[in-house]
Amino acid sequence: ATAQIGVTGLAVMGRNLARNLARHGFTVAVHNRSPERTRSLIAEHGGEGAFVPSESMADFVASLERPRAVIVMVKAGGPTDAVIDELMPLLEAGDIVVDCGNAHFADTRRREEALRGHGLHFVGTGVSGGEEGALHGPSIMPGGSDESYRKLGPIFERIAAQVEGTPCCRHIGPDGSGHFVKMVHNGIEYADMQLIAEAYDLLRAGLSASPAEIAEIFREWNTGELESFLIEITADVLAHTDAATGRPFVDVVLDQAEQKGTGRWTVQSALDLGIPITAIAEATFARSLSGHADQRAAARRAFTEAGGTFPGVDRETFVEDVRRALLASKIVAYAQGFDHIRAGSREYDWGIDLGGTATIWRGGCIIRARFLDRIRQAYDAEPELPTLLVAPWFADRVGAGVPAWRRVVADAARAGVPTPAFASSLAWFDGLRAERLPAALIQGLRDNFGAHTYHRVDRAGTFHTLWAGDRSEVEA
Ligand code: NDP
Repeated sequence: ATAQIGVTGLAVMGRNLARNLARHGFTVAVHNRSPERTRSLIAEHGGEGAFVPSESMADFVASLERPRAVIVMVKAGGPTDAVIDELMPLLEAGDIVVDCGNAHFADTRRREEALRGHGLHFVGTGVSGGEEGALHGPSIMPGGSDESYRKLGPIFERIAAQVEGTPCCRHIGPDGSGHFVKMVHNGIEYADMQLIAEAYDLLRAGLSASPAEIAEIFREWNTGELESFLIEITADVLAHTDAATGRPFVDVVLDQAEQKGTGRWTVQSALDLGIPITAIAEATFARSLSGHADQRAAARRAFTEAGGTFPGVDRETFVEDVRRALLASKIVAYAQGFDHIRAGSREYDWGIDLGGTATIWRGGCIIRARFLDRIRQAYDAEPELPTLLVAPWFADRVGAGVPAWRRVVADAARAGVPTPAFASSLAWFDGLRAERLPAALIQGLRDNFGAHTYHRVDRAGTFHTLWAGDRSEVEA
């Protein structure tokens, strides 16, 4: 046995992760259900480092040093269970199975418990950055026992993206925590992309600007507080011309956004935990809405009113208004995402360090941004921060952006440009800061039709009004 770590599942992700490990000097056992993938990896990249290829699972396991560390990088769901079932009888107590696929955290909790029963460590690990990240340095979010991290940490921290000398990898917590954090990362990615798309749409409608002109605006934004990978590639995509037609690329792409499900999982989990992640939810629903082509066509036929126009503001003011509204809405989306992680951590007793989580998203992953340093600083300064929104740097940006934010959302509504994520982020903000909410009326209605009781502002206790009787109040 000579390999320090193994990878089974050598499609794009597993192959690149194995190459990344080998390039960093680790001896890597490699295996795939269909041996052609293993052979082509060795034929094309065998010279990049020390690989130990095997065509059977038994040989693969036998080639690993003990305690064995096996990375499973196969299609999430049934295939992951099938591979684990195949591995189990070949492993021994103390060995570590690492699932780097996009598993649902509930599946990871189930698998971790099952393998723990056999004395094995199961490490559900979120990996972000796509195939390029897997090869050149992803953001890695491992969840599992402290003991497993003692073996995996030094390996993963070497192959992860590095930002200012800090690896974009850290032990998130036990069992499903790594996949949970990866899930919320993807949810935030949905919100980030939807907000960018709304900003683009507003600039296009409000300025009658071409995609190429808007690309320049995003390029400019990428030199300031909004600097991020997604803003950078937005400029790239908007500036691109379709070779076949000579038209802007963005105009020849069908406007129906697809999804693989992590946004939906994030929203489902937030509903279970009672955390209003409105920006992520709106972003997920906006993708769904875009896909309902028949309903969209029917609605276009039924409502032919052209919509209003944007007030004739000067270009510079409008661009700056949209930038401020985008930044404020983005802060809301991240504040909600971190609330969600905190709630998950409390519910499942994971002890997740929120500032540390922000640290490992600074590089490697899709939402990588300068901004994330501010999140780390905010939670480092005040770990019990009630919400990111009130941390000084964020509160300053949101506070200063409020008038612009309101103008943009109001103008968009008047002009008939849909901005679900901008608008719901503003509504969330106004809801949080309101002196009084109409939730008092909701409580009154619940008591009226269902005797669900209410609390009073002026005295302790639980009360009910005899709505069908003399309308006197009784203590419940
Ligand atoms: P795929 O999700 O396309 O999965 C293909 C791999 O799974 C192949 O190695 C295939 O083996 C194997 N496989 C499928 N079914 C079985 C089975 N029943 N038993 C054994 N092996 C099986 O590969 P990707 O590389 O795209 O992704 C791998 C994992 O990484 C997935 O969970 C994905 O969600 C996750 N991920 C992907 C990212 C991406 O950008 N693509 C980013 C982050 C995570 P065979 O060759 O024999 O068919």
